[in-house]
Amino acid sequence: MTDSTYYMEHLRRRGGDLSLDFVNTSNRKGAANQQEWLQRYDDFLDWAAYVGLTERWPDHKKVPRDDGEHDQALQRVLTVREAMYDVCTRAIAGKKDTESLDLLNEELKKANEHLILTQTDPGVFKQTYDTDQPDPDALLWPILHHFQAVLTEGKGARIKQCQNQYCDWLFLDVTKNKSRRWCSPDICGNRAKARRYYARLKTEEKQ
Ligand SMILES: [Zn+2]
Repeated sequence: MTDSTYYMEHLRRRGGDLSLDFVNTSNRKGAANQQEWLQRYDDFLDWAAYVGLTERWPDHKKVPRDDGEHDQALQRVLTVREAMYDVCTRAIAGKKDTESLDLLNEELKKANEHLILTQTDPGVFKQTYDTDQPDPDALLWPILHHFQAVLTEGKGARIKQCQNQYCDWLFLDVTKNKSRRWCSPDICGNRAKARRYYARLKTEEKQ
């Protein structure tokens, strides 16, 4: 079983927002090397299906594409994802990001060109897109719009990074006193507690 299959089968959405969950499809501090769950273009399609982005395109996997197209599409997906990661981690570190933000603005411009509002009932509106084609760009649009909303609707300052030294996942801290430290208190939080416990035991043994 590959990392990707395992991840998809135990889908973990701890970001608190679709865009942060997307950024968390990699762990840049994972194990010996970076853990990458989007190793193939199909991994991105699988992820998109799990989070409900392909609902409008149930046959998205049947669209024939050659390997070259897959590789290019995956590279674009990863470039956008890493730009989002840069913007967030630099903000957390108290720095401004221009290069990655420029890249995301270019992608947002393209996404906005396809954005339409539909009215499902009187007074009930829905944001959707003007394409019925399940191409990778179209799958990135809602992710970009979620990211834009997170950054601009007062939640930007609530984006945090997990404090587990082997985990770099991002999450929205919605606690009242902004005290959340782990992407997952029961996994990363417990590991940190266990490490502190054994470190204390070792110190006590030496005394
Ligand atoms: Zn974590």
